[in-house]
Amino acid sequence: MTAPATPSGPAPAAAPGPGPGPDAAEATPGLPRAEIGVIGGSGFYSFLTGAQRVSVDTPFGAPSDDLVVGRLGDRDVAFIARHGHDHRFPPHRVNYRANLWALRSLGVRQVVSPCAVGGLRPHLGPGTVVIPDQVVDRTWGREHTVYGEVGAVVHVGFADPYCPAGRAAAAAAATAMGANHQGSGTLVVVNGPRFSSRAESLWHQGQGWDIVGMTAMPEAAIARELAMCFTTVALVTDLDAGVEHGDGVTHSDVLAVFADNVPRFKALIADIVGRLPATEPDGTATCGCRRSLDGRTLPFPLP
Ligand SMILES: [Zn+2]
Repeated sequence: MTAPATPSGPAPAAAPGPGPGPDAAEATPGLPRAEIGVIGGSGFYSFLTGAQRVSVDTPFGAPSDDLVVGRLGDRDVAFIARHGHDHRFPPHRVNYRANLWALRSLGVRQVVSPCAVGGLRPHLGPGTVVIPDQVVDRTWGREHTVYGEVGAVVHVGFADPYCPAGRAAAAAAATAMGANHQGSGTLVVVNGPRFSSRAESLWHQGQGWDIVGMTAMPEAAIARELAMCFTTVALVTDLDAGVEHGDGVTHSDVLAVFADNVPRFKALIADIVGRLPATEPDGTATCGCRRSLDGRTLPFPLP
């Protein structure tokens, strides 16, 4: 839905693709290689050394922006600004498929995805970091799958949407930093760009869900469809309207809290990257995220 160029998937391979091949993860020829991807707000790449901008095209159209590839410690990292460097794309217009396909094209197999959320519980106030283990998708009208065409039908498991190794790394980093954090929780994703009504907030809260955001889906599902490890790290910027007793959340409130917390949050994300396990080769990967396509016949080969 981002552009007319995106309605169809990649051209089918001459023969059904075998899925991730037996070889180690490799970048598409001509592109720099990275093992870890970060999808976040602009500015994170100030942590990268030797950063270079890379333009990547995908079968789903252009990503939100050029990717920035560089070194972070001893890891090769690719960063992409989810909303574009000038924050052009509202949550429902982000080309999630292109962003993840582009990262995979560089060899990325582990993704860390920071985002801003509202807290649905009084103890999850502004500044709290939540590492969700579950997600509820209430978005609609978004291009939500890379397997959307008639042909080979691909269902991937999504019972546990987030990478256990990535979540463990995130929790360890948050603990080491002394960050006020919660190592699990359910993230409900709404379509936006408006915030929730009080009734919606109370409903979300009543379901036992913890935080609410606008970008985490279909991002997590598409990562799973591309057999990539994916970890969301959420920064609470407000108590959602139905939970707090004021006039409800405003965009300026969110921006102010976000600005206050961004330096520490960025440092946290950088520390998480350094704590991720070594990236396993495609053919012998043991993390379940990486085995999501085992036994499936794909309509096209993955990059
Ligand atoms: Zn994983």
